[in-house]
Amino acid sequence: MQGKILIVDAISTNRIVLKVKLASAFYEVIQASTADEACVSALRHDPDLIISAMALPDCDAAELCRRLDRSPQTRAIPLMVVGCRPDADTRLKALEAGVQDVMLKPIDDTLLLARVRSLIRAHNSAAEWQMRDDTSRALGFAEDTLDFGPPGQAVLVGADATAAHSWISQLRPHLRTELSFTSPETALRDLSPGKVPDVFILTLSEEDNSTSDVLRLLAAIRATAITRHAGILVVQARPDPGLGAYALDLGADDLMTDGFDVAELTLRVKAMLRRKHVADKLRATVRTGLKAAVSDPLTGLHNRRYAMPHLTRVAEHSAATGRSFAVMVADLDHFKQINDVYGHASGDAVLIETARRLRDNLRGVDLIARIGGEEFLIVMPATPLSEARVAASRLCRKIGGRGFIVPGADEPIKVTVSIGVTIGGIRKPHDSAAPQDANMLLDAADKALYAAKMQGRNQVNLNRPAA
Ligand code: GH3
Ligand code: MG
Ligand code: MG
Repeated sequence: MQGKILIVDAISTNRIVLKVKLASAFYEVIQASTADEACVSALRHDPDLIISAMALPDCDAAELCRRLDRSPQTRAIPLMVVGCRPDADTRLKALEAGVQDVMLKPIDDTLLLARVRSLIRAHNSAAEWQMRDDTSRALGFAEDTLDFGPPGQAVLVGADATAAHSWISQLRPHLRTELSFTSPETALRDLSPGKVPDVFILTLSEEDNSTSDVLRLLAAIRATAITRHAGILVVQARPDPGLGAYALDLGADDLMTDGFDVAELTLRVKAMLRRKHVADKLRATVRTGLKAAVSDPLTGLHNRRYAMPHLTRVAEHSAATGRSFAVMVADLDHFKQINDVYGHASGDAVLIETARRLRDNLRGVDLIARIGGEEFLIVMPATPLSEARVAASRLCRKIGGRGFIVPGADEPIKVTVSIGVTIGGIRKPHDSAAPQDANMLLDAADKALYAAKMQGRNQVNLNRPAA
């Protein structure tokens, strides 16, 4: 099934005609004849798209849109309207209410299906799909309006510079968005990561000679890393359903089929910026959220959640290559006293500086993670025992050899560390019990650490594998 579509129309023949078209493209179709029914059905079935008549027995499509908007469960479902040519005012009111498109009858099947695909694709787009119901609301994005968001940048692309400049000057009073003009040839050439438009308005002119340039650009915008999340709105000079459908399938998010209209273009650009703003925030949350989930906020090092699966991977890799690897646990000595004497902030400063010194004295491929309060795990792939010993001793000196500057003390204070080391990846033939498991390796390093503490601290202890 391609997706689930809810059709809302009081006239059953209209519903049936539309249903046949959609079912032939393998959409699952559900039906409602009033706005009330539609709201109930949308809650129950969670459709990917709602297609409504402009006028319904209990209200119009704009009001249906507002009603759907009020419920968090139905707010994100795109709504498209199919109508006989409504007056401009009704059409604008629908767009203003949040309706994504108003298609006029008679409907071209190719364009209808391309539009449906485009709306469902946008609706399902990765991050939003997973998080629209919870995170976006939890973070209050849904309540965001463009007036509070960044003004954004839009670029108008076309072959006819004179027409484009006239459009821009008409749009400017209605949009906070920065507007500029460029030709299809230069649109992507002059972009740098900090200056990427949020919205591309691609205009197809009366003459056919620039059409292929514009369509090529459309595909390129979608394929280019820095522009692929930009909104793309295509404005056709005159209706051409085949061309419109093609533009949508190439990745356009929105289409105006009847040429320039300042009020309609303003609404569509605003809606596009609003959606992009939310999607950008969601993507950023996913990125920072993932990062936060696997790192320690105090030191910036990885945390235990990241470290243990990483250790497992290193062990597996070592089994494949036959090269041994080192596992160390480093624990600051008498750290509690530092907190007690100089205060917790000084303790934190020591942890941060310890992380820095460890990082500065290991290789890029080595993993350093903070796995406990003042306890660090170090995993060194492809490392024999002799090298591990040298590395651990160096770390011990780098911590103990130079005092730490902390807020609670006039002089740098002395901090030392004890390190337990074990080697993984060395097994006796036929010995499947050798410690290759992450927890067993950590245990072995911990035992060595305990011995280092017992023997007086500020030193390295090796837990030799029984090879
Ligand atoms: P040992 O030499 O035996 O390791 O003694 P120790 O004092 O280092 O070890 P102990 O486990 O007794 O104390 C660790 C202390 O680390 C206790 C706890 O308050 C402190 N600690 C844990 N996490 C943090 C942190 O994030 N910041 C600060 N400032 N202190 C922390
Ligand atoms: Mg300690
Ligand atoms: Mg400890």
